[in-house]
Amino acid sequence: MSVTNDIIKKVKENHPSQPEFHQAVEEVMLSLEPTVKKHPEFVKANIYERIVEPDRAILFRVPWVDDKGTVHVNRGYRVQFNNAIGPYKGGLRFHPSVNLGIIKFLGFEQIFKNSLTTLPMGGGKGGCDFDPKGKSDNEVMKFCQAFMRELFRHIGPDTDVPAGDIGVGGREIGFMYGYYKKLRNEHTGVLTGKGLEWGGSLIRPEATGYGATYLAAEMLATRKMDFKGKTVAVSGAGNVAQYTIEKVNQLGGKVISVCDSSATIIDEAGIDEKKKEYIMDLKNVRRGRIKEYATKHKATCVEGKSVWDVIKEKGIKVDVALPGATQNEINGEHAEALVKNGCICVAEGANMPSTPEAVKVYQDNNVLFGPGKAANAGGVAVSGLEMSQNSLRLSWTREEVDKRLQGIMKSIHKSCLDAAEAYGKKGDYVAGANIAGFLKVANAMLAYGVV
Ligand code: NDP
Repeated sequence: MSVTNDIIKKVKENHPSQPEFHQAVEEVMLSLEPTVKKHPEFVKANIYERIVEPDRAILFRVPWVDDKGTVHVNRGYRVQFNNAIGPYKGGLRFHPSVNLGIIKFLGFEQIFKNSLTTLPMGGGKGGCDFDPKGKSDNEVMKFCQAFMRELFRHIGPDTDVPAGDIGVGGREIGFMYGYYKKLRNEHTGVLTGKGLEWGGSLIRPEATGYGATYLAAEMLATRKMDFKGKTVAVSGAGNVAQYTIEKVNQLGGKVISVCDSSATIIDEAGIDEKKKEYIMDLKNVRRGRIKEYATKHKATCVEGKSVWDVIKEKGIKVDVALPGATQNEINGEHAEALVKNGCICVAEGANMPSTPEAVKVYQDNNVLFGPGKAANAGGVAVSGLEMSQNSLRLSWTREEVDKRLQGIMKSIHKSCLDAAEAYGKKGDYVAGANIAGFLKVANAMLAYGVV
């Protein structure tokens, strides 16, 4: 049995109830096969087995009181996966589906993604099975304070710097940062995604959506194409989806879909800037459901179905797909429908939104495919730039940060292609992202000896 297959088998045996973690490890390990032959030093130091084991996984009780005085208990997590190249860095997810396996998959992915950005950041992830939906601002604040009451002792600007993810946006970061500051009596860059007035960076809210679109543009350019006149499917209606729509519009594409966890909207006329502003107000301020879009604008609403179900069932033509909702939203059948309907490029704004079957369909059909590690790395990259600005006690302009983000996305694109070619997988962005991300971390781990 090969080294990497052996690791996949061990991970499945040792953690039987963590399917998302198995999926992430399997994809990375299969990609790393060519590195085994070229780097006997990594095999000798058992880097492959060491990298799938988190440095530590912290699990904690989060007790809080709702507006009616009822006491609730949620389960909080922070997985500090690997700090070989910098402090642990990765978002916090608040969603009822959160469990240890999901946080480990996200933390594991984050190691390679952060390495790809060229910035000195290790990999980590955290979250809680708390559902912010339907909670008052006061309840969300109480919960965030309870969460930080434990998390604060495990994080720090040189140790571990969390950020947002699903269910954690500006409001939640504000409540958590305020409480951290109170507990520690320190105004320091311990969270990213902060408000501009209190240490945040311009372009951080936009970064993931913009970055995914920039990466897609780079991939299209390899075939002498761009976004002009392209029909684009986006999923999700949160942070990533909103700024993906904005950037696609700026680059001349037409976005025809969004969704939330209860419905999909298809707007064949295109979601222009005004409609995007409506979505931002609906989701970020009024915290409503996406189906309201269809009453306000002339559009189709399909309840209980994902964007990819609807595209498949209605045979909707799509040139580019930019999934921005959640893991495993696109299965093999969805991918086949995308190919049949003309899709030439998929860039993952979300983390692992395509199942392994879907990825195989893209690759078998020569679809340009940018995996999440590369495509959504813009978010953490600008978080890294927020950390730099905090350390420098300076704020860069919007233009400066956007220029750096574009430079980083270009460099990620090139690193993926270069690594893929160097290891015999020309044009394979999945292998390229995994190998390029891995090499830097593996070399650092090697330098430290067995620690
Ligand atoms: P948000 O919470 O802002 O938005 C998530 C959106 O996706 C919401 O509209 C939500 O619907 C929808 N959604 C969630 N789960 C499902 C589901 N099972 N089916 C359909 N829709 C669903 O999160 P983000 O936009 O920040 O994150 C989206 C994805 O991007 C995640 O995979 C995240 O890990 C990834 N990502 C985010 C980064 C960031 O900077 N924010 C960085 C890198 C990756 P509803 O409104 O009903 O909850």
